[in-house]
Amino acid sequence: MASAPPDLKPVEQAGDPPPAQAVDWADFRDHLSTADQEGRRQWLYPRKPSGRFHRARAWLSVILLGVMAAGPFVRIGGEPLLMMNIVERRFVILGQIFWPQDAVILAIGLLVFLTGIAVFTAAYGRIWCGWLCPQTVLMEMVFRKIEYFLEGDSFEQRALDRTPWGPQKLLRKGLKQAVFFALSFLIGNTLLAYIIGSDALIQIVTDDPANHLVGLGFMILFTLVFYGIFARFREQACTFICPYGRFQSTLLDENSIVVAYDHKRGESRAHLHREESPAARRAAGRGDCIDCNQCVAVCPTGIDIRNGTQMECVHCTACIDACDQVMDKVNQPRGLIRYASLNAIERGESRLKITPRLIGYTVLLAALIGFECFLLFNRSAVETTLLRAPGTMFQTMPDGKISNLYTVKLINKTNRDVTVRLQLENLKGTIHVLGHDLKVPAQKLIEASVLIELDPASLQGTSTPVAIGVYAGEKKLQTIDTGFVGPRS
Ligand code: SF4
Ligand code: SF4
Repeated sequence: MASAPPDLKPVEQAGDPPPAQAVDWADFRDHLSTADQEGRRQWLYPRKPSGRFHRARAWLSVILLGVMAAGPFVRIGGEPLLMMNIVERRFVILGQIFWPQDAVILAIGLLVFLTGIAVFTAAYGRIWCGWLCPQTVLMEMVFRKIEYFLEGDSFEQRALDRTPWGPQKLLRKGLKQAVFFALSFLIGNTLLAYIIGSDALIQIVTDDPANHLVGLGFMILFTLVFYGIFARFREQACTFICPYGRFQSTLLDENSIVVAYDHKRGESRAHLHREESPAARRAAGRGDCIDCNQCVAVCPTGIDIRNGTQMECVHCTACIDACDQVMDKVNQPRGLIRYASLNAIERGESRLKITPRLIGYTVLLAALIGFECFLLFNRSAVETTLLRAPGTMFQTMPDGKISNLYTVKLINKTNRDVTVRLQLENLKGTIHVLGHDLKVPAQKLIEASVLIELDPASLQGTSTPVAIGVYAGEKKLQTIDTGFVGPRS
C-alpha cells in the first residue's frame, strides 16, 4: 500500500473519534495492576496470608474440596451425589435422577442458583468468590500452598525466579510443575467423573486405552486446561474470563457489604515514625493507615484495596488479616480493612441495610424457590411418553375393531421398582402391552410396544383423541393424551 507523502498531514474530519488519551500510570483506573507499560504480564508473588479469616477459609476449603472430590463417587441409593452427564442427558443431584423431561426443574434450579448469587452479592458482595468458588479454593488453598511449601514465601519466590538456571532451581521448579500437573490430572479426572459418571471413568482407566480414545482425549484436555489455569493463568481467570466480576458493578450498591478500606479512619495515610503516639498522629492530621503496603503485598490479584471496591477484588480477605496484624502491632483497633458497606464507613449506618432492591431480589428468589418446590413435589414418579409407532397406519382386526400401534417409554424416577398398567379413560376399548409387563426398575427407562383397539363406532373420523391413565396399583400417576387414527367415516 502506498504511504502518504511526509508533508501531507491527515486532515481531521468532523465525527472522527477523538485521539486516544495517554495512559495515566499513576491512576489505578487507567491500567491493569498485572501488566507493565509495554503490556507484558507482571507475575504476582502474593505474600503468604495468615489470620483468623484465612483459617476459617482454609477449614471451609477442606470441607468443600472433600465434597468436590467425593461428589461423583459417593452413592445415594446407588446413584452418585452429583452427576451432569450431558452426553446421555442424565443428571443426578443428591442421588435423584433428572431426565431430559425434567429440563424445566433443572432450568428453574439454575435460575434459583443465579438469583441466589445475585441476592448474596447485593447484600454481602462477592462472598461466593472468596469463600466458595472452586477456582479460588483450588488456587489459593491448594496450588498456592504447594508453591509456598516448595518455593517459600513471596520474597524467596522472587529470589528463586531471579536466580540463573542451575540444578537446584531446576529441581525445585521441576518438582513444583510435576506436582501441579499430577493435581491437574486428578482435578481433570474428577470433572470427567462428574460428566460421565465414576463407573465410566474407572472403566476408561482400567480398560484397554484403544477402546476409550474419546474419553482419554477429554482426560488429557481437562488436565492441560487445569494445569494451564493453575500453573500459569491464575488470577486472570477471575479478572479476564469470569463474567461474575463484571456483573458485580451492576449488583453492588453503597449498602452492599464488601471487603472495604475505612478511608475515613485510615486517611491521610503516612508512615509511622518512631515514638509517634496515636494522639500525636491524630493531632498532625494523619490517619491510622501507616502505608506499610502489607494489604497490597498479600493480594492475590495485585490490587490496592485502599483505592476502593474494584472488579479484580475476589474478597479473599487476605488484606483484612494482613491489616489486622499491622493494627495489632501498632496498638490500634482492628478493622481498618473489614467487611463493611460504603454507607457504614461514610455514615456509620448499620452493617446490613435492607433496601427496596434487596427486598425485590429476595421476593424474586423466594418465588423461584417456591416454584421449584412445587415442580419437585408434583414431579410424577413415573414419566410416560406414548407415540404412534413410526411408519404404521391403523389396522382392521378380524373382529372388526380398529387398532393402532404405539411405542411407550416409561422412566421410573423413584428408588423402587414400579409396575404400571395403562387404562383407556375416555373411550371403551382394550390396551395390549406386547411382549412383557410394564415393570420399570428403579431409576431406569423401559420401552415397549402397545396396541390399542377401539370399536369403529367410537371413532371420530380419521383422528380420535384418546386419554390413557397410567396407574401403579390403584394410584393414578399420569394421564396421557394422544391421537388414534381410523378410517374416513
Ligand atoms: S495494611 Fe493497613 S496499615 Fe498497612 S497499608 Fe494496608 S491499610 Fe494501611
Ligand atoms: S483486595 Fe483484599 S480481599 Fe480483595 S482480592 Fe485483594 S487481598 Fe483479597
